[in-house]
Amino acid sequence: MTFVRLAGCNARELGLGCVAWCDTPGSWNLDDGREMGVALVAARACLPRLCLTGGEPLLQAQGVAELVDLLHESGVRVHLETNGTVDSLCDFDWVTVSPKPPDYPIAAGWPGRIDELKLIVDDSLDAATAERLAAAHPGAIICLQPRFEGLGGPGAQVGRTAPSAADRAVDMVMSHPDWRLSLQMHRYLGIR
Ligand code: SF4
Repeated sequence: MTFVRLAGCNARELGLGCVAWCDTPGSWNLDDGREMGVALVAARACLPRLCLTGGEPLLQAQGVAELVDLLHESGVRVHLETNGTVDSLCDFDWVTVSPKPPDYPIAAGWPGRIDELKLIVDDSLDAATAERLAAAHPGAIICLQPRFEGLGGPGAQVGRTAPSAADRAVDMVMSHPDWRLSLQMHRYLGIR
């Protein structure tokens, strides 16, 4: 899968708690990125699937809409990873919404369209909150991803202190058999 990371994030202006542990602060500002036209991005998508991530990719709504249309014309399926705060009418082939603390807001247009609800297990996420979010999105796969403690790379560890994010994520998955544990494998492998 081709990954396209779009610059710009609205987490700070919305007061989202993920700014405390975000692993991609280099994507927060629009001018952090390298400017590329939609046609060039589409031309470089040489794999059957492409994932739009960020930052918050839907802040570049027009470019995303044009890119999705171009990719679909060439048979590329388009996945989206979003924090869920921005609506979109684009016809994505897979939608991952990862709502953020403290209130885990999800814009009105997403319920019923979410394939995966990715919840980062940090100090804010308890089982009751995860259950509330899961109940509100019954068609979504629920994935719990422990907050990665450390600065990345193959030597970094999770869950050194109890109750660790990893332990809590495993506990929640064990008590909710339909839920899944999600790990950032690229960070364990040291791949950026
Ligand atoms: S929304 Fe995503 S990119 Fe933005 S601060 Fe939160 S975790 Fe980082």
